Amino acid sequence: MIPPRPWEDLERDIMHCTRCDLCRTRTRAVPGQGARQSDLMFVGEGPGADEDLQGQAFVGRAGRLLTELLTSADISRESVYITNVVKCRPPGNRLPSDHEIERCLPYLRRQVSLLRPQIICTLGNTALKSLINARASISREHGQFLTKGRFLFFPTYHPAAALRQDSLVPLMKRDFNLLATKWRSLHGDHDQSSKETLDRATGSPR
Ligand code: SF4
Repeated sequence: MIPPRPWEDLERDIMHCTRCDLCRTRTRAVPGQGARQSDLMFVGEGPGADEDLQGQAFVGRAGRLLTELLTSADISRESVYITNVVKCRPPGNRLPSDHEIERCLPYLRRQVSLLRPQIICTLGNTALKSLINARASISREHGQFLTKGRFLFFPTYHPAAALRQDSLVPLMKRDFNLLATKWRSLHGDHDQSSKETLDRATGSPR
């Protein structure tokens, strides 16, 4: 009997997905990548040009800044899981539409169910509004831990925004340090009950 391979099945489904029109313009779908046992998940907006070409999340300039921010907080990129709200590049890096987000979110829900992260760090307004609160604003909510349902969220800016606006970099460094401190404290207290709680969280993270 062939053992179940849920991550591989999920990635295959994303790679062949035609649930929205972004499939027509993508080069490659970008499921996301990282440690599949991690309890820290990062969710950005959608793939950019480099990601679309390489099929990997956060590998362009914004990805390099994300790696720097993680490193500055003493978090190795290899120890976390990184993905996006939509898995295919919106043409010209426009914002994904509500319809595209709605069509793609089931994949993110499957990723959350498989990963069972203790903290979901949302990067930028699209992830914040899609996962936490449609009326939230990143400038108001960044750097705060927010509980929604069974999940602990931590919104911060998208690295691409910090590339356009230098003044966001120190704010993001502060946010990443807060995130790292909390993550380590949870990690130290990581017990079976917390995993069991997340085991039951099979519904929407919205
Ligand atoms: S963006 Fe998501 S829903 Fe749309 S085609 Fe890509 S994987 Fe499918």
